[in-house]
Formats: sequence, C-alpha cells, structure tokens
Amino acid sequence: MTDSTIPRLSTATILGYPRIGPDRQLKRAIEGYWAGRLELDDLEVAALELRRSTRARLLALGLGADDGSIPGDFSFYDQVLDVALTVGAVPPRFERLLDADGRLDLPGYFTVARGEGDLAPLEMTKWFDSNYHYLVPEIGPTTPFRLADDRVVSLFLEAAGDGITTRPVVLGPVSFLLLSKAVADDADGAAAPSDFTPLDRLEDLLPVYTELLHALGQAGAPWVQLEEPALVADTWDVPRERVLAAAARAYEVLADELARPERPAILATLSYGGADDAVDVLSGTGVEAVGLDLVRGDVPSAATLAALGDKVVVAGVVSGRNVWRTDLEAALAVLGELDAGLGGRAVAEGRLAVTTSTSLFHVPHDVRVERGLDPELRSWLAFADQKIGEVITLATALTRGRDAVAGELDAAAQARRTRLEHAGVVRPEVRARVAEVAEADYRRPPFADRAPVQAAALGLPELPTTTIGSFPQTTEIRRARAARARRELSEEAYTDAMRTEVRGVVELQERLGLDVLVHGEPERNDMVQYFAENLDGFAVTEHGWVQSYGTRCTRPSILWGDVTRPAPITVGWTRYAASLTTRPVKGMLTGPVTILAWSFVRDDQPLADTATQVALALRDEVGDLEAAGTGIIQVDEPALRELLPLRAADRDAYLTWSVEAFRLATSGVRDETQVHTHLCYSEFGEVIGAIDALDADVTSIEAARSKMEILPAIAEEGFSRGIGPGVYDIHSPRVPSVEEIAELLAAAAAVVPGRLLWANPDCGLKTRRYEEVVPALENLVAAARQVRATL
Ligand code: GLN
Ligand code: ZN
Repeated sequence: MTDSTIPRLSTATILGYPRIGPDRQLKRAIEGYWAGRLELDDLEVAALELRRSTRARLLALGLGADDGSIPGDFSFYDQVLDVALTVGAVPPRFERLLDADGRLDLPGYFTVARGEGDLAPLEMTKWFDSNYHYLVPEIGPTTPFRLADDRVVSLFLEAAGDGITTRPVVLGPVSFLLLSKAVADDADGAAAPSDFTPLDRLEDLLPVYTELLHALGQAGAPWVQLEEPALVADTWDVPRERVLAAAARAYEVLADELARPERPAILATLSYGGADDAVDVLSGTGVEAVGLDLVRGDVPSAATLAALGDKVVVAGVVSGRNVWRTDLEAALAVLGELDAGLGGRAVAEGRLAVTTSTSLFHVPHDVRVERGLDPELRSWLAFADQKIGEVITLATALTRGRDAVAGELDAAAQARRTRLEHAGVVRPEVRARVAEVAEADYRRPPFADRAPVQAAALGLPELPTTTIGSFPQTTEIRRARAARARRELSEEAYTDAMRTEVRGVVELQERLGLDVLVHGEPERNDMVQYFAENLDGFAVTEHGWVQSYGTRCTRPSILWGDVTRPAPITVGWTRYAASLTTRPVKGMLTGPVTILAWSFVRDDQPLADTATQVALALRDEVGDLEAAGTGIIQVDEPALRELLPLRAADRDAYLTWSVEAFRLATSGVRDETQVHTHLCYSEFGEVIGAIDALDADVTSIEAARSKMEILPAIAEEGFSRGIGPGVYDIHSPRVPSVEEIAELLAAAAAVVPGRLLWANPDCGLKTRRYEEVVPALENLVAAARQVRATL
C-alpha cells in the first residue's frame, strides 16, 4: 500500500525537551540505582513516571497529542550512545555483557557509558559548540551493524498507549558516523588503518536504519525526526563533497526504499547552524520535512527555498541555546520571508511549521520557579516551557493572524523594551572604558625579554612542580557552603572554615615539596559561577540545571548586562595563602572565554564585545593580585576550543577575539609577573597557533592519557614558551607511579628545554579524594626531582 500524502504535522513543535526532569528526577533515580539505593525496576518506574509527566506537561503547554508534535527523545544517558546500541555498534570489549540474543540490558548500557573495572568506557567529547558531552561510538572497518535494540519503538508504543502520538527522535546515520571515532576491529581500541573513516561504513549502516523505520512505521508512528546536525559543520576530516554525497545517498535510501506508510514521514533536522548546501541535498531526496536552525543560520537563498518543492519547512526561530525571550516580531518577519520564498502559500498549504533551533535540552525547564531572580530580569527570560509558549504563539500568528496573539506580541515587545532601557544593560562607564582600550593594552614585551626577568624574580628550579589550582572539594567544604546558603553558617564562620582549608592545603603542598603553591579554591562552588556571583552584570539561578553529560548537570550563570567588578574577588584568598608560606603562591582566575562559554550570554551585542567587558574586569583583578605581591597569575581557558565555530570560515574571527580577550585580561602586568594559562584538552592541533598567540608565559595542558603525544607537534609549530604537559590523569582514581611519571617527564624533556618545562597534573584536583591526591603528588615531586637531576 502506498500513501503519497504527507501526514499532518502540527504548525507548532519542538525538536526536543530537557531530559533530566524539572527536579532532576532522572539524575537522582539513576545515581540512586548506581549507589545501590534503588532496584533496577524502581529505576525503570521512575523513568516511566518522568516520561509520563513530561508528555503531560508538553500537552498542557499546548503541543498536540495526535500529530507527532511531541518529540520522543528520552535517554537514560546520551542520545548518541542510544543510537550506537540501537544499531548494535557495541565495542568488542563489552561483548561479555551481551545476552543470548546479543542485547545489552540497562546495567550493561551504563557500563558502556561509564566503564567498570578494566573495561574502559566510550570516550566523551563535546557535542558541537555546546557544553553537552556525548559518548563517542567506536566504529571499525568491520564493526557489525544490526538492529539490536528497539527501545525507540517501545517508547513510541508506550506513549501511544497513553494516547499520545510522539515523534521519535533519532540521530541520523551521517551524523552518527561523523561523530564516531575510527578504531581497528580488535577489542583493545587500537588505532584504525589510516585510510579508514567511519563514514566508509554508510552502506552497511543504512539497512539497519531502514529496518528501524519499518518497525516504527508498523508501530504506527506518523513521523520520525532524524537529526543531522553534523551537516552544518564543515570542519570534519572528510571533504565537504563527501559528506554531502553521503547525506544524499542516506536519504535517497531511507526516504525511498520503503513506501509510506510502511515507514514514518521523515523530518530531517539541521541544527546548530545554517548550510544551504545541506538543505539542497535534502531537497533532492524524498524526506517529507526539513528542520532549519534560523537562529544561527540565515533564511536560505531563494533558489534553495524554491528547490524544497512541497516539503514541509520546520522553521527553528526560537533559540534552543539561550535563555532570552524571543523577539517575536523578528521571528514573524523571518517566517514571512520563508513563506514568501516558498511561494507565498506555504502557511495556507501546511508547509510551514514553527519550532526551536535545536532541542531545548540546552536550557533549564521553567523560569517561573526562579523566585530569587529579580522579577524584571525574569521577565526577559524564557526557559524551555516558556519557549514552547513562544513557538505556539508564533504558530498561531501564522495560522490565525497576528491579531489572535496581539496580547502575547505586546507583552514580548514590552519585555524587550524594559530590557533595552534597564540601567544595568548599557552602562556608560563600561562603554567609555571599552572605547578607550588601546592597541598597547593587548601587548607585553616579547616573551624572550620577560623570561629572564621572571626567572630572576622567581628563582625557581628547572622543571618546577605545581598543580592546576583546585584541591579536593571535601564533604566538609560542601557542607559548609550549603549551611551558609541556608544561613545556618554566618559569612564569618564560613570564611574561617575556608581559611582553615586553605591553611591545610598550603601545609600539605609544603610537605610534599611542590615549588609553586596554590590556595586550593575551596571557596569556589564552580570556576565560572564563582566569578559570576562576584561580578556585576551576571545573575545565577537556583534550579536552572542543564545536562552536561549523563547524569551530570551544570547551572550556567546568566550574563545579562554590562560587566563590572565591584570589588576584588580573589585577592584576599591568595594573599592569605601567601602569608602562610615563603614559596610563591599562584593567583587563580577563570578566563573571559571560559566565563562566556559556560554562561548564558546576552544576545544583544556580539560575543566579542561581551568578552572585552569581562576581560577588563579580569584585568583589574590581575592588577590587584599583582599589587598584592602575587608573582604568578594563572588565567584558565579550558573552554577556548569549545566555542570554535563549526564552519571553517568563521574560525579566524573567533580565534582573533578570543585571544584578544585573554591578552587584554593579562597584559597589564609587569615583566617579572609570570602569566600562566591552563587548557583541558589534549588535541591541541586546531588551536596551537591561538595558544601561542595567548602570549602566556606558561601553558599547562592535558597530556597524561595521550602519553605526551602532543609535544612533537607543539615543538614543530615553534611553540617556545613555558609548558606543563599534565603527567597525572586526574580523571581516574588511579595513582601513577614515580617511574611512570618520570618516563613521561623524560619524554617531554627530550622535546622541550628544561627551563621551559613544568611538572603538573592534567587538571584541577577538585573531583579527587585526598587518598589519591597525596600519593600521586608525592610521586610527581619525586619523579620531577629524578628527571631534574638528569637535565
Ligand atoms: N583552576 C581550575 C581547577 O584547578 C581549572 C579547572 C579546569 O580547567 N576545568 O579546578
Ligand atoms: Zn583543566
């Protein structure tokens, strides 16, 4: 039976919704299960309850029950892992977890995600330019693919049983393969043959997707959402033509091999950016609808729109990435432009729908529960639930005319006006200071001239030892912070408790014999939120959790206005630590790019301008630290690479402003003051030039797991500043031995001159326990001494 008509798709839909629950129910249930407090059955029940309440919530917010406008996007851990298991791509090392039918149960699923004993988990990496991390599937030349899991289908049936027709959401085959890592076929994850890339396996993978679509069709799903965000990026190590050809082939097969309604109608989505060439490719296939990100991307060209023919355009005009109320008038203008470009009758013919630019899982649930926020600021914000309201308002304006939503349009315009006029949004003194920034503010004398001055001032040995900043955040620290938040502990008593902590950390470091000490950062709940709480122009939420990976959530701050520093932030802590020792104590700040990357940032001016303001506030802090006698100041930029644009053409501009922001923050110091930076990733390649351009005197980076592989590349690029390749993998509880560390340091010393080389862990120690940290640092110091003697 063939049915050529497209099933109705509601004019209002969203591409996805936060998965963790408004009270982080899923997090608590899963972690309770891991800790043995909850049985597996209880976990399944908790997850079912969350799915039910989520669907009920989406219905109550106005999404349709019977038109596939409610996405089916539940995941116990990660949407990429889900697809890997659906298509049977479980790395061979996990084989013993499979049952007789080759299926992986939920405990096995968690093992693939988190590892267990000697079973290393899948790697984790950033999802596009967001702060969400996905699990990286491992695909080899002969990884077998088969439909190994039908959770997608059973979740559809579960909702259908409750009377709700969902639209299952599945990562599409091209993005799945591009996001995967090439491996050899044997169990230990050895490197793949150099001419192999997972995309080579497309033809083998497509039949599994076809089978899945067939199963969904049989279950009665009118629509499926196949997400292809990877098509908007052009920075894969596969040429663009090849990516586009793969997309053309994939959707030629998936959209045509089965006639409808044997398969659901396909909504192929392109989130996280715009790419007309990818839209054109989809136009040439049989997919029924295309989702466009019109927040990051522009309205496609007239030719691209015309080529879409009778496909439904699902227009992502409400941002899934930020927390600001949508400019509804601007969104309506975009929708009008689209309608015109699609021939002027798209709305009338049901070929234009309104949606979010991405899934809403990057934003918190509901702004109305944020009682602690200033009501005026709150009135400018839209979290997931409010964004659904906006989607519905816009859809109603399309179908019934703007008069039908005049009240909503007015309210939105009013909120925009008060935001624009608020005294904290544009502060003349901040603007004046930004206007006065001069070329010279970004520059220090050449490194070669500063280095000897610093060496003389600091008097450090070759191969000095240090840490990245934080020491374990103990239960006592967390308790004290919680008690202070509940006002059960006075500010004074809290400060005393933290000072005691600092004293302990300083004494420990002296005992261990580290050369450059830190205060340990006990007073910081989070390396960004701490600064947000102490700078003007930021607000913090109480419940605004968003998923970072698995059950881990973060609460991004909201940068809403011009940024100033009302008072020194870190100086007191650093000075206190320095008063306890004769060794140098490093000052410790979070850099401007990382502060932006891990906050929700204002959308009314370019990111570069906001970065300049944050940089100026930090510049003052750096100056105050220096004036207080701090000879070494570290400014962390672990997120520098995270914001790297997905389109190659945009990268230079980004690297220019991000590097400038760092330099503006750090270049106001005297020659003898040593500026450090810290970056938390080992694949340095793409940003090596930028890291050099930061002009920091010393850069510490992650390197333990990759066994210093990066160093030759660094040397090759002519990077000739101080460098501290991490020698202790702090992501693991394992304590590295002296020999192991000495070997890594010796390997580093073979490439980097001793006077430029530092010995330090990969990252901060806040997530580790003292039982691991103390012996690991003892070994680090011993190994550094050994290697130092050979220099
Ligand atoms: N200074 C911070 C710490 O040690 C750096 C953390 C990070 O790089 N993410 O915790
Ligand atoms: Zn780090």
